[in-house]
Amino acid sequence: MHIRSVHARQILDSRGNPTIESEITLESGVMGRAAVPSGASTGSHEAHELRDGDPRYYGGKSVLRAVESVQGEIQAALLGRAADDQFALDDLLINLDDTPDKSRLGANALLSVSLAAARAAAFERKIPLYRHLNDIANNPPMSLPLAMMNIVNGGKHAPGGADFQEGMVICAGAKTIADAVRMGSEIFHALQTHLSDQDLSTQVGDEGGFAISVSHNAEILELLRLATLQAGYVPGKDVVFALDVAATELLSDDEYRLAREARTLSADEMIALYQDLVAAYPLVSIEDGLSEDAWDDWSRMTAYLTHTQLVGDDLLVTNEKRLQKAIDSSACNAILIKPNQIGTLTETIRAVQAAKSAGFGTIISHRSGETEDTFIAHLAVGTGAGQIKTGSLSRTDRVGKYNELLRIADTDDDLALAQPFRQMK
Ligand code: PGA
Ligand code: ZN
Repeated sequence: MHIRSVHARQILDSRGNPTIESEITLESGVMGRAAVPSGASTGSHEAHELRDGDPRYYGGKSVLRAVESVQGEIQAALLGRAADDQFALDDLLINLDDTPDKSRLGANALLSVSLAAARAAAFERKIPLYRHLNDIANNPPMSLPLAMMNIVNGGKHAPGGADFQEGMVICAGAKTIADAVRMGSEIFHALQTHLSDQDLSTQVGDEGGFAISVSHNAEILELLRLATLQAGYVPGKDVVFALDVAATELLSDDEYRLAREARTLSADEMIALYQDLVAAYPLVSIEDGLSEDAWDDWSRMTAYLTHTQLVGDDLLVTNEKRLQKAIDSSACNAILIKPNQIGTLTETIRAVQAAKSAGFGTIISHRSGETEDTFIAHLAVGTGAGQIKTGSLSRTDRVGKYNELLRIADTDDDLALAQPFRQMK
């Protein structure tokens, strides 16, 4: 299981921007490959994504320095190491970089190698990747994740759309992942028909959901409700809703600018707005409802919205220290897990474990700039995270993850669909 070579190259993500993929080849000749995604509404506390900054190439976004890091320094350190000792490999990568935010070698460089090693080891062991990840995570109970399906795109992912970044359906009444995918697809198409009937645009944003020009952000939930009904499902029973407000992006002088509604709200007014929305709709989950450093406001929101999953994305950035602070201050009750926010597989899995121990919900997530890599589908199953967020029911960069979950379900009868919202309903 020893590493014979490490190779990297620059490829494109779903927005047509460069990103890195790495390949680890073992002594046996077995090779594991992994590509790294990229965010648009990134949190300022994320690990550093290394880009070249030379305006002549890809508008400064090329990642050739990260490629060089992998093929030079990282390869030299990894040659001969055991690919199945993920903790030791990641520890080595972290120490080699030796900066708090992985800015010297680049979190994108480190993560591509960290994930490629796991894939190579799974191939060598001749087991599915999710089983190998389950072993790394100390064998928690596995399940197929219930998905938050982002069928309305706004914010930075859909200029001209709503202020809120994501309007999602969760097919909580589904018994199997195949049911959940079918229901999500039917609701997505019902929304498409509804928009067409109204002579509205059916263009989609970065995550494959409709970019809808609303005049009020609550219309997102009204549209989700209509589409759910038109597809033949009961909102609140078969299907529940989620929002990602991505509130840091709305911040203007310590208040939240809702441009679509031509008004600016304080943190308390945002919390009051969420209370109204939760009362009016089966809205069970709100992500980044407040900005990334508003810790006291988050604790107040969590105290008020006791029956809602409150997810820290930019707030927590998959970082165990920030997660611990949130646990200590009851700032939220769930964490979004994005491997590239932290930069190694080990740290990603540790964040899932720490969140679960504290009774937090855990949601494995894509980025708005994705690739065809379906690693996160395996991560969600292997860690038994219970939830996944991987976009809409269109665009191969999003659908690829659902398809991988369907494959996993098809080959493993023992895996049940997680039901994280059953007790909340
Ligand atoms: P990002 O968006 O990948 O652009 O950060 C996803 C999210 O905010 O959840
Ligand atoms: Zn988010």
